[in-house]
Amino acid sequence: MNLKHADDPENICAPTLPAEQDLSVSLAAANMRSIVFALPPVVLIFALYILLWGRPHLSLDLSGVFIMIGLFVLGVVAHEAIHGFVWALWGTRSFSTIKFGMNLRALAPYAHATIPMKAGAYRLGAVSPALILGAIPSFLGLLTGNFLATFFGIIFLAAAAGDFLVLWLIRNVPSQSLVKDHPTKAGCVVLVNYP
Ligand SMILES: [Zn+2]
Repeated sequence: MNLKHADDPENICAPTLPAEQDLSVSLAAANMRSIVFALPPVVLIFALYILLWGRPHLSLDLSGVFIMIGLFVLGVVAHEAIHGFVWALWGTRSFSTIKFGMNLRALAPYAHATIPMKAGAYRLGAVSPALILGAIPSFLGLLTGNFLATFFGIIFLAAAAGDFLVLWLIRNVPSQSLVKDHPTKAGCVVLVNYP
């Protein structure tokens, strides 16, 4: 440590950790590792539903099946849109910095922020689809005994498992730090770490 400069006011805001920490994982690795994050909410909410309302009765005719598939596709699109919307609004402050696409090899649609943002905003954007499409419908379904809402919430909590993995990977990054969403992998690169 250079004591001579330790109390230099210029050093107060200096990075305290090495810059450019890559906290991303490949999409294939993310798919494997996120099972750990997908299972607990699925099991817990399903068990809670049975405890509160008994065994669910889900009898679907053909139109019901199509409605479910339609809802699923809409939910997947909404999941990525919510990531992008929250990142643009609280992170990059510009909608033109958000790119949407589909990774065909991992069969994973994605929203990607092309410029850096603070880790706090990145976290908010990462967790928002899980809250809006997963936690809220699950909670309302459990509250009212509506299995379809509960089921929808369970599916979209499981679909957010990769986001939970990313939140876990960046758990030690202070919220003021500057991070950049990884263009092809799950997670981000920490550009500058601030305490
Ligand atoms: Zn996501």
